[in-house]
Amino acid sequence: MAVDNMPETPKKTLNFIEAIVEQDIKDGVNNGRIQTRFPPEPNGYLHIGHAKAICMDFGIAQKYNGICNLRFDDTNPVKEDVEYVDSIQEDIQWLGYKWANVYYASDYFQQLWDLAVRLIKEGKAYVDEQSAEVIAQQKGTPTQAGTESPYRNRSVEENLDLFMKMTNGEIEDGKMVLRAKIDMANPNMHFRDPIMYRIITSHPHHRTGNKWKVYPMYDFAHGQSDYFEGVTHSICTLEFVVHRPLYDWFIDQFAEGDYRPRQYEFNRLNITYTVMSKRKMLQLVKEGLVAGWDDPRMPTICGLRRRGFTPESIHSFIDKIGYTKVEGTIDLGLLEHSVREDLKAKAPRVCAILDPVRMVITNYPEGQKEEFTVEENADNPELGNRKQIFGRELYIERGDFMEDAPKDFYRLSPNGREVRLKNAYIVKATGCEKDANGNVTTVYCEYDPETKSGTEGGNRKVKSTINWVETESCLKAEVRLYDRLFAVEDPSASDEDFRSQLNPDSLKVVKNCCIESALKDAKPGDHFQFLKQGYFVVDKDSTADNVIFNRTVSLKDNWAKKA
Ligand code: ATP
Ligand code: MG
Repeated sequence: MAVDNMPETPKKTLNFIEAIVEQDIKDGVNNGRIQTRFPPEPNGYLHIGHAKAICMDFGIAQKYNGICNLRFDDTNPVKEDVEYVDSIQEDIQWLGYKWANVYYASDYFQQLWDLAVRLIKEGKAYVDEQSAEVIAQQKGTPTQAGTESPYRNRSVEENLDLFMKMTNGEIEDGKMVLRAKIDMANPNMHFRDPIMYRIITSHPHHRTGNKWKVYPMYDFAHGQSDYFEGVTHSICTLEFVVHRPLYDWFIDQFAEGDYRPRQYEFNRLNITYTVMSKRKMLQLVKEGLVAGWDDPRMPTICGLRRRGFTPESIHSFIDKIGYTKVEGTIDLGLLEHSVREDLKAKAPRVCAILDPVRMVITNYPEGQKEEFTVEENADNPELGNRKQIFGRELYIERGDFMEDAPKDFYRLSPNGREVRLKNAYIVKATGCEKDANGNVTTVYCEYDPETKSGTEGGNRKVKSTINWVETESCLKAEVRLYDRLFAVEDPSASDEDFRSQLNPDSLKVVKNCCIESALKDAKPGDHFQFLKQGYFVVDKDSTADNVIFNRTVSLKDNWAKKA
């Protein structure tokens, strides 16, 4: 990994893993060498929780002149696929990280198998012919010892012979497993003869094809892989705390010398109004409840990207939540806040009319057009200026006009009140036209030519400013208003199926929105603030003929009020 010079300035307090690493460096552990890995199973797309782990694994290596490898934990061919391998690499790079090497647990299948044979020969592993259910029943409880398998005391020869048969594909899936012979009464349930190998003949592996018929379990693969690679700090989430003694035990069975990888655990990220289990996300995708892994409502990295989140917004979110040893759930509002904060100065602020009604300025010369030069973003002069076309006929938001308006309605109404058109003139409504159903079709108004923004008359203050676009020049676009995927804070909490908790209003598609002509050249991934509406991004499926904007987030948190 490219290593930047460590910034000397802002001295943030260390998280507890950084403190451990600094102490190890001070103590000369592993000669001060720092090596981490990010170990996804390629059985789905990465989500925002993985981003938390990625920022930790890559962040530690970056900060302490170490390396971080990407290791695919590909020990279960039934669920894994190259599609996932590719997407994982893309997402890590998008977050701004570079791995030193790409490794695969499947690179170690032979080494792991050799170790298994060694353990059999040492009388530390045996082939069990019981079903998975029976083995689970015999596990006991934390306070009650388990029951030993009747196959536990086979001879080494018999075990070797059976393991060879398993390996050669002579035994059906599920008929036998290889188990470590440790201690069926150990208070740590993971020591009660854990399964090391199972038979999978039905699915070819995405890398090794049909070569292997037996596959190592997580506990038998992870620590050894860390050891083979020279990992110093193997960082994972808290559910692995109970696996740690077994992680150490397997390594101790064969490791020589002083070097040992060490496992450390932090709290996983949970967020309200979403689900982050890959199984549940896959269900949403497969059942068509979302448009795919990168549906902008998904908590996946690719979904967030398509929604308009920036890598910077994700980093600032991860910085805010920090790393601890206590599980908890983070309010989705905090993630949304991070992207608002990031886009505030980055995104040009433009007029986009989502529910347009035509407006005619009756005293503006017919056929005349003006081109105003307007600031892209008042908070960021570096973004420069753009052109905005003005003319006699405009579109304004339907909600900005009311024929019979109450006193406290400060926008357009034929009541003599004046309103400023953003970046343009002050106007006064004079009346409107309606269709047979009473819907307003055209608003009529008059403008005051002396009140152009940027001139002296432009300083005149009125109660409100409204957005507009010129009818002939404007861009017609599809706008997708995304909201939270689930209607409840914790969709997995109740007895009801999580799919019944989906927010029915999580997507509203608005066709024929009218947007400033300057956005005609916008490209997928470009961010904008639609004034008074929120932040939007050009969707990846957007074309010149069908321009699509996705709402990243509204300007304010509408859910905070509801709660
Ligand atoms: P799932 O259980 O949904 O399949 P997983 O946790 O098994 O997901 P992995 O691909 O094994 O997914 O995860 C790779 C790494 O990312 C692991 O080190 C894991 O601890 C970490 N990770 C996964 N989910 C989270 C999360 N919500 N918060 C923080 N880290 C996570
Ligand atoms: Mg996992």
